[in-house]
Amino acid sequence: MCIRDSLIDFVMMPDGSIQPLLGPNQERWKEVRHVVLDMDGTIYLGGRLFAETLPFLATLKELGIGWDFLTNNNSKSRADYVESLGQMGIIVEAEQVVMSTDACVATLRGDFPEVRRVFVLGTPGMKKDLGNAGFEVVAEAGCDAVVVGYDTTLNYDHLCRAAYLIGQGKPYLATHPDLVCPTEMETILPDCGAICALLESATGRKPDRVSGKPNPAILEAVMNQRGLSAREVVMVGDRIYTDMRMAREAGVLGALTLTGEATREQVVDPASAPDLIINDLSELEVLLRTSRSTPH
Ligand SMILES: [Mg+2]
Repeated sequence: MCIRDSLIDFVMMPDGSIQPLLGPNQERWKEVRHVVLDMDGTIYLGGRLFAETLPFLATLKELGIGWDFLTNNNSKSRADYVESLGQMGIIVEAEQVVMSTDACVATLRGDFPEVRRVFVLGTPGMKKDLGNAGFEVVAEAGCDAVVVGYDTTLNYDHLCRAAYLIGQGKPYLATHPDLVCPTEMETILPDCGAICALLESATGRKPDRVSGKPNPAILEAVMNQRGLSAREVVMVGDRIYTDMRMAREAGVLGALTLTGEATREQVVDPASAPDLIINDLSELEVLLRTSRSTPH
């Protein structure tokens, strides 16, 4: 019996278990040493952890495959994520949480080495992370650059000051391009990209740099830090135009999970096509386990 339910073919084994038949990329899957996981829509939705997440992570550990979490959502600090993941039963080191703020910090250091003091449209958590990275978060006077993130504490006066500084020609960086933050609540959560659109309307300027997914630099930084080649990494996420596009651009395997935003029908653009579509993490778990037990 063959079940064609995703890009991988599954086959019913004599013992009743369901195993994937590895596709054309099977050699690539055998080489995977590290999994980079998006968070919201991939390991949980809202505050609800998916039942497949903890078994998936346990299997990665058993197989000797490392993992990091990667999110554009910097309304919370790295420490906040470590704590909230811990409350869900996921114990992580701080360096396993990679955020768009980190990508922006790397951009600042690389492209704007003179910048020390930043005016920030962001939450106290984001400001704390920028401070930990060595930047001085300042009020308007004397700032070297303007940094915009997912500011859920957005304040009109602060917005006006940011617009003025951008209008004055200060270096202007956005941590990520997302227009909205996904939510199950009956509301719309304008994200960093929407705040930047407002600022563009007011000043005529777009950000000088936009870090975060789908910019592959954030993923390349993870690979450099961990000494991984692109062939050894798989990116798992629920958004085609961020998670999967970044995977393509970084040359790593992309696994699209249908537990969040994307539907199978939305996979149309070759520039962001996943290597694998999974209904949930348990299918990837089976694939990775099987790839380890398949002879070379
Ligand atoms: Mg997501």
